[in-house]
Amino acid sequence: MKVTGVEVLEAELSGRNGIASWRHVFARVHTDEGISGLGEVGMSYGTGAPAAAPMVLTLAERFVLGGNPLHTETIWEHMLRRSFWAEGGGPVVFGAMSALDSALWDIKGKAAGKPVHQLLGAQTPEPLRCYASQLQFGWGDEVINYTEPAQYLEAAQQARAEGYDCVKVDPLMIAPDGSRATKLRGLFTPAQRKLFRARMEAIREGVGSDADIILELHSFTSTAGALQVAELVKDLGILFMEEPTHYNGSKAHTKFAQKSPIPVTAGERLYTRWGFLPYLEAGAMDMIQPDVGLVGGISEAVKIAHLAHTFDVGVQAHVCGSPLAIAMALQFEAAIPNFEIHEHHTYSLKACNRDLFEQDLQPVKGRFTVPVAPGLGMCLNRDAEKKMLKSHVGIKPS
Ligand code: MG
Repeated sequence: MKVTGVEVLEAELSGRNGIASWRHVFARVHTDEGISGLGEVGMSYGTGAPAAAPMVLTLAERFVLGGNPLHTETIWEHMLRRSFWAEGGGPVVFGAMSALDSALWDIKGKAAGKPVHQLLGAQTPEPLRCYASQLQFGWGDEVINYTEPAQYLEAAQQARAEGYDCVKVDPLMIAPDGSRATKLRGLFTPAQRKLFRARMEAIREGVGSDADIILELHSFTSTAGALQVAELVKDLGILFMEEPTHYNGSKAHTKFAQKSPIPVTAGERLYTRWGFLPYLEAGAMDMIQPDVGLVGGISEAVKIAHLAHTFDVGVQAHVCGSPLAIAMALQFEAAIPNFEIHEHHTYSLKACNRDLFEQDLQPVKGRFTVPVAPGLGMCLNRDAEKKMLKSHVGIKPS
C-alpha cells in the first residue's frame, strides 16, 4: 500500500453555538488501495490553527507521500529527524505530525479491519469513566460565560443528573461582568478569593458528596496564586488541580507540586516523550494529559503513557476538538495500562461540532463506550465537508 495524496480540510466554526474561537484542521491521507484515513491537529482553540494547515501539507509532501502507511514508526521518525524544526518542536510542527500519524493509524485499522486499540494489542475495555469538563461555560447547547455561583451550582447538578461522577471547572477565568478575567497571575485579592470560593462551594453542592471535582487553572496562575487557590478549596475534596502554572520549564510546576495539598494534573501543552520526561522525573505531575493531536499522534501518545506508567502516573487524554479528536483519544485511552478518566468537553455538546461527522460520540451516564469500527471509525458528514476549506498535495482526490 502506498500514500498517493494528502488533503487538509479546515472547518471555521468561530462564533457558532457561543464558541468564541474555533477552527478545526484535519488531515486526510489517501492510498492506492482506496483506503483513506483521518487525523486532527489539536489546535482548534487559541492562536495558530491557520499555521498548522500548511505544515501538514509540507510534512506530508516531504515524508508521507509515496510511503507505506503501515510504516508509522519509520514515517514518524523521518518527520522528527528530517524536518529540522521538529528537533525542538512546538504545537505547529507536532500538531501537524500528530494529525498525519493518527490518519495513518486510521488507515492501518481499516486495512486490518480492527479498531486502533485492538491493533495496539488491547482488548476492548468496559465503557470508560468520563467527566463533564469546563462547567464555567455551562453544560448545555450554547457556551455561556457563567458568573454567579448559582449558575455553577445548576451546571454541576445538570452534569450529575446525566450520570457523571466527576466534573471539571475553572472558577477563575470568567470575571464578575461575564468577560474573560484578567490579572490572574500573581497573588489574588480577598475579593477574588471570595468569588472563587463561592463558585467552588456551589460546584461541590451541585455534585454532592459522592462525586469528584477537578479544578482547572488553564496556566493563568503563577505558583503563588495557584497555591492560594489550593489552600482556599482543599477542604472541598478536590481530586486534581489542573495546569497550575506555565510550561516554559518544569521548575514552576515542580515547586507547586511540592507545596500543594492537592495533586496536580497537566500536560496539554507538552509534546513528545522528551517534553514529559523532566516533569515526570521531578515528580511535578500526578496525572498527565497528553493531547493525541499535539504530542505526536497515536504513536507518540502511547509511548508517553508508558513512560508515565514507569513513574506510577496515570493518564487522561486532553480533549478539546472535533468528534475526531474524541475518537483519537478514546482509541488511545483504551490501549494503555494507566488510563484514569476521559475528558468530555462542554464544546463536545454543541451542534456545530456534532454535525461535522456522521458519528455523534457522546457518553451515556458518565461512561464512554469505545468505538470498535475499523481504524478510528469516523466519517465526515458530506454537507459539513462541503463547507470546509480544502488543500492538498499529491494526486487530487476525486
Ligand atoms: Mg485543561
